[in-house]
Amino acid sequence: MSLSERAKKIKPSPTLAITAKFKAMKAEGIDVVGFGAGEPDFDTPDHIKEAAIKAIKDGMTKYTPVGGIPELKKAIVEKFKRDNNLEYTVDQILVSPGAKFSLYLAMQVLLQKGDVIIIPAPYWVSYSDQALLADAEFRLIHTTEKTGFKITPEDLEKTISEVKSNGLNPKVFLLNSPSNPTGAAYEAEELKEIGKILVKHGLWVISDEIYEFLVYDGYKHHSIVALVPELKERAIVINGVSKTYSMTGWRIGYAAGPVDVIKAMTNIQSQSTSNPTSISQAAALAALTGPQNCVEEMRKEFDKRRTYIVDRLDSIDGISCFKPKGAFYVFPNVSGLFGKKYGDKVINSATDFAEYLLEEAKVAVVPGAGFGNDNYVRMSYATSMEEIKRGLDRIEEAVKKLS
Ligand code: PMP
Ligand code: GLU
Repeated sequence: MSLSERAKKIKPSPTLAITAKFKAMKAEGIDVVGFGAGEPDFDTPDHIKEAAIKAIKDGMTKYTPVGGIPELKKAIVEKFKRDNNLEYTVDQILVSPGAKFSLYLAMQVLLQKGDVIIIPAPYWVSYSDQALLADAEFRLIHTTEKTGFKITPEDLEKTISEVKSNGLNPKVFLLNSPSNPTGAAYEAEELKEIGKILVKHGLWVISDEIYEFLVYDGYKHHSIVALVPELKERAIVINGVSKTYSMTGWRIGYAAGPVDVIKAMTNIQSQSTSNPTSISQAAALAALTGPQNCVEEMRKEFDKRRTYIVDRLDSIDGISCFKPKGAFYVFPNVSGLFGKKYGDKVINSATDFAEYLLEEAKVAVVPGAGFGNDNYVRMSYATSMEEIKRGLDRIEEAVKKLS
């Protein structure tokens, strides 16, 4: 087999891999508790499913315009106005098969060889590989729980200068607030500071706002593009229905940006996937225009689990857990366990610890390595309270067994 260099540099998504492993173990009859999956465990609300069933019955089963049906684009324009104080026209919107594909397209049209995308770390696993697929490089700005997993304006200035001094072009900044995996969320003032630096240096921003409604402790999400209007001509906002409406399997995400950029993204979509599924578009339209109380109901349930899981993890010797402001993940620091042993094996990284948990305790978590820091593991609390309790009992026991 002679694979291209491009294919060879791409790793499989570790978040999807751990979920697949968890499902395979379950199918074999193994009693495993899963904290891997980054998807809400709630069912898609009924009124959304009904809209999809109606679409099928009405014969909405053919190709649609590549970038989405006009009604859905209009609903997205209204959503941006209603929720984010952002004004777009329908020709500035693209609907894709998932926000992940919108992100992929954004990088394809903005980045090329010699360009760098700057990504605050820990970061969501796909950003770095998508940059590589666009022949670009990525630079991480590492953060820890000490700064709430947030970068400072000085960090950003320093990284931009470093990239320039290496003869490369710092073209794009990737912002994901609230963040997967840390749950970090930037305040409006912090976003303004970051935005000013991006404007000063002429960088683009890709703002992934997919967790905007899953926020806690009174935090309110702001889009950096609304706070720093001068950024808008060099900004792509990414969002989708997967998380807000528990619709991961329907595969609908969307992007908003300058007309020529959206047109270029649509061209690539036209030559790759074609339109997102017609039936899913009808469902997404119902999600965005229908009653919104389902969103708050899910958020409240996540909030209860968040408090519980953080308290339990923090009470385990060797583990400390930052309390996230958003999304549905915790990202506990497990480096306090490094050097400990089980049998003749030593735990030297979060990857070792995750392996130990899976083998010995039958608990699936995602090691932090894929997110840019192997002192942590990611645990999704998008699973029932019962499972969370069961899993934490097992983790507690497993840690006690280490010597
Ligand atoms: N961005 C982030 C930060 C995510 O966690 C996800 C979930 N995988 C996505 C984008 C993509 O979501 P989807 O493709 O399901 O719309
Ligand atoms: N966003 C989810 C996660 O981070 C889904 C998996 C994926 O698309 O990578 O686990």
